[in-house]
Amino acid sequence: MTQHQPFDVVVVGSANMDLVARVVRLPHPGETVSAHDYFEACGGKGANQAIAAARAGARTAFIGAVGSDAAGDTLRSAFIGDAVDVSMLATVREPTGRALIGVSDDAENLIIVVPGANHALSVDHIDAAAALLANAKVVLVQLEVRLAVVQRALELAGRDTIVVLNPAPASELPDEVLRHVDVITPNEHEVALLGGASSLVARGVANVVVTQGARGALLVTRDGETRIKPFAVTPLDTTGAGDAFCGVLSARLAVAGGLAELALALRAAAVAGALATQTAGAVPSLPAWAQVAAALQQ
Ligand code: ADP
Repeated sequence: MTQHQPFDVVVVGSANMDLVARVVRLPHPGETVSAHDYFEACGGKGANQAIAAARAGARTAFIGAVGSDAAGDTLRSAFIGDAVDVSMLATVREPTGRALIGVSDDAENLIIVVPGANHALSVDHIDAAAALLANAKVVLVQLEVRLAVVQRALELAGRDTIVVLNPAPASELPDEVLRHVDVITPNEHEVALLGGASSLVARGVANVVVTQGARGALLVTRDGETRIKPFAVTPLDTTGAGDAFCGVLSARLAVAGGLAELALALRAAAVAGALATQTAGAVPSLPAWAQVAAALQQ
């Protein structure tokens, strides 16, 4: 069974269908506006990050849940198309998660996430994937599934497994979760809600990586701060930048030297985040390793 083969990266997280309407301006409460463009695309932080890791060359498995509906089938096919293992992708009675997204012409957005199947992912599903988690080189999680599920996944990660937590959307994190985490990757907004990078270091997280959009990223450890320079681009659509960053960071930690090579992995992640701003949408913008490698040589 694939379930007992070690994977480079095992992602536990959400899979959504994004329903995206482009409007001149966002509606006020109670108001109706007409969209001038509409598309549907695979999304959800878990799905995006798993596909990003796979495109970066990591053998990747996804643990999550979709509904028994067309969106679930589309997501399953998308994973398979990018060689992400779906042996632990459950089909549940709740509908596949959706994100209802309005984007205005001046790039403001409004998002309603309907968790659906993502919140039906249970501790039992995670327990069924224990072998996958115990043998993974890297376990990568976000917070779009229930915190109890995240916590169980981290408890089942192996002694040598590197645990990466992308704390998005930001929520309070108990010490029982944080104590398993080797690398946490909040953006500037999330790190503020979590009390700041130094407080996360003080609570025992060895590596706090704050992603800072066009300014690159900052690694904060007990030994001080290291700046990860941005890869200069003119952004077209920043959707997926953070997910590309986390997926590629995890892939490189798994296949290129582990935490000893964290600085190199962060450089690759920053390049991937920048490249993801060059194409519209999340999954379509996630770069292949050849693109990241070429940019790293510039
Ligand atoms: P999120 O999408 O989660 O808010 P960020 O906006 O911080 O995350 O983006 C993640 C990473 O992608 C950044 O740390 C940076 O390396 C890269 N990135 C994002 N936007 C840009 C940009 N405009 N120019 C260069 N790099 C970018």
